[in-house]
Amino acid sequence: MNLSNGVGALVVVSLAVGSAGAQEAVRRSDVAFMYDVPEQYAAYGCTVLGWAGGGEPAHVKSAYEKGVRLFAYSVGFLTEGSGVIDFGGTNVLDMACRNFAGDPYVVPWLWDHKHKDKPYYWWCTKSPRYRSYLESRLNTHAQSGANGLHIDDYRGTSGSVTWLSGGFCTHCLDAFREDLKARRAVDPALAAELERHGIRDLDGFDYRAFLVAKGVTPELWKSKWREQPLSAAFLDFHVRADTAYVASYYQKAKALTGNPALTLAVNSEVANPQAMAIAKTLSYFCCEIGHEAEKLQTATQPVVAYKLADALGRAVTSTASGQDWAFIKEQQKHALVRSWTALSYSLGHNFMAPTKQWCYTQEKGTHWYNAPEGVYDWLYRFVRANAARLDGYDAVAQVAVIYDNAARRVNRADIEPICAELFKRNVPFAVVIAGDTWLPEHRLTQMALAAYRTVIVPEGLMLDAAQQAVLDEALVSGRAVTWKEREKALASAGSPVTVEGSDRIVVVPRVKRDDTKAPAVLHLLNQAYSGAKDAMTPQTNLTLVVRRDLYDGRKFTRAVLHTPVSDSKPGDFSAASVATALLVAEAGDSVRVTVPSLKEWGLVALLE
Ligand SMILES: [Zn+2]
Repeated sequence: MNLSNGVGALVVVSLAVGSAGAQEAVRRSDVAFMYDVPEQYAAYGCTVLGWAGGGEPAHVKSAYEKGVRLFAYSVGFLTEGSGVIDFGGTNVLDMACRNFAGDPYVVPWLWDHKHKDKPYYWWCTKSPRYRSYLESRLNTHAQSGANGLHIDDYRGTSGSVTWLSGGFCTHCLDAFREDLKARRAVDPALAAELERHGIRDLDGFDYRAFLVAKGVTPELWKSKWREQPLSAAFLDFHVRADTAYVASYYQKAKALTGNPALTLAVNSEVANPQAMAIAKTLSYFCCEIGHEAEKLQTATQPVVAYKLADALGRAVTSTASGQDWAFIKEQQKHALVRSWTALSYSLGHNFMAPTKQWCYTQEKGTHWYNAPEGVYDWLYRFVRANAARLDGYDAVAQVAVIYDNAARRVNRADIEPICAELFKRNVPFAVVIAGDTWLPEHRLTQMALAAYRTVIVPEGLMLDAAQQAVLDEALVSGRAVTWKEREKALASAGSPVTVEGSDRIVVVPRVKRDDTKAPAVLHLLNQAYSGAKDAMTPQTNLTLVVRRDLYDGRKFTRAVLHTPVSDSKPGDFSAASVATALLVAEAGDSVRVTVPSLKEWGLVALLE
C-alpha cells in the first residue's frame, strides 16, 4: 500500500464484522431464484433458492442433484394466513396484532386474501399462540432437508408500528411493561423520561391507557406518534424484541435440523435502520428493492442498499418490488431488467433471475410474472461463466460516505442521493457506518476512516460524542467534506476513472481479496437506455482512463473484455461469454484501455 502524502492508495472494502459465514453462504456468481421453478434451473444455472416453495424432502434432494447449492425454505411471518387461521381455530384473534384503537388490522398488500371468511390479519410475533404456530413450521422445515431458512416479513409486529399504529395487543403491552422495568435500571435517559411523566410504579403499567389518559387519540397517534411520550422507547422495544425472536427462531431451526451451518436470510430491504438491525443475525439478505421501473431509466436507487450491505458484511440476493414486476409484466421491458441484473452483480450482489416474480398493484393485488424464454437466461449463464472474475472480488474505493444510523432513525441524513451521484460520476466509494444501539458493532473510528482519501459527510448527523470527535478530526484536517459543500466534496473525490467517448458508461472497479496477483476487474455498465425501444444504445470507441493508484500502482499490460452471448444455449456456460482482447497503454499515473463497443454489460479483466 502506497501511503505517500498520507493517502491510502488501495482500499478494498473488506467485509465487516462477523462476515465469514456470510461470504460462504452466497457467492458473488451465484444465481438465485425467488421461487422454485425446477424446469428453469438449467437455463439460468440456478444455485440458490430464495423464498423457495415446496419443501418435500424428495424434491429438495432432487434440487441439489440438479445443481442447487443452497435451498432456502421460507416461513412467512405474515403471508401464511390460511395455515394460521386453521391453527388458531376460534382463538385466531388472539394471534392478531391490535392497533392503538384496539382493533386487529389486515396486511395491506394481502387485502385480496381470505381463508374461511377471515382476512389475512397482521399476526403478532409477541403472541405465544402465534409463536407456537411459527415454531410448528420449523418441524416441516427440518424434515425438508433444506440447508437454508428464509423468513418472509420477519419484522413481525415491529413492522407495523410506525405506519399502521400497530403493536398494542395485550401481549405486546405486557412485554413492553416488562421491558421498561428491565431497561429503567440500565438506561438513565429512559429512567429520566419515566420520571418526567410521573411513572414510578411500572407494575400494572398499560402504555395505551397511559396515552389515552394523556388525551392521545388514534388519529393523533397515527399522525404524530413520534411526538408522544415514550414512543421512541416503544418502537425500540418492538424492534429489539422481534429481532431477538428471529435470532432465537434461527437457533431453534439449527437445533431441529442438526445443521450448525444452516443459513438464515430474511426479506429485508437493507437500507433503513429497522431493516439493518437484523443484519448480524443473518447469513445474507434476500429481499425486494424498489427500482422505479415506471421511470424507464437505468436504476440508481438500489446502489445505497448494495453499499450498505457491503458495510454490514452481508450479500444481498435481491429482486425488484412487486410494483416494478407488475410494470415489467405489462410493458415487457426486458433490457431494463437486464440493467438491474448487471447493476447488482457489478456491485457484488445477486439480482434474482426473474423466473417467477411476485407482482403487486393496488388494483390487481397479487399476481405473477414468469420470464419469457431467451430474454434473461443468457445473462445469468454469463454470470456463471465469469465466476472467476466475480467470486472473491470486492469494491475498490478511495471515498467513504458516512451513514449515521441514529440520524436515519428519524429520517435525517439520507445518503441515497450522494450514493447515486457518486455512482453516476464514476467515483468508486464505500459506505462507512456510524452505529447506534441497533448497530452497536459498527463504530466510526479513526481506523475505519484511515484508508480513505476523502470522507463525504451528509447533513443532519446525530452522532454520539465519541463518533463525532472522530469526524471532527477528519473535518479539521480537510479530509472530510460535507455534502452541503457539494462541489468541494466532488472535487475532493476527484475522477479516478473517466470514460472518453461516452458519458453514458458507469465503471465499477473491483479487486480480489487476498490475491493481489489476480486480474483487476472493471465492470462496464451501459446506461444509455431507451424506454421506447427497450434497448441500450451501443456505446462505441470508448477509452477508459483508470488511475493506477486505485489498484495499488499495479502496471497492466493486457486487458480482456468479457461480454454476454445472447444466443448461448442452456447448460453451456463456456459459450455464454465471449472474450475480446483490448488495447492497453500506460499514460502517466493512469492506464488507458480502448473498448471498441459496449452493448449492455461487460467485464474488463486487467492483467499485468
Ligand atoms: Zn401484539
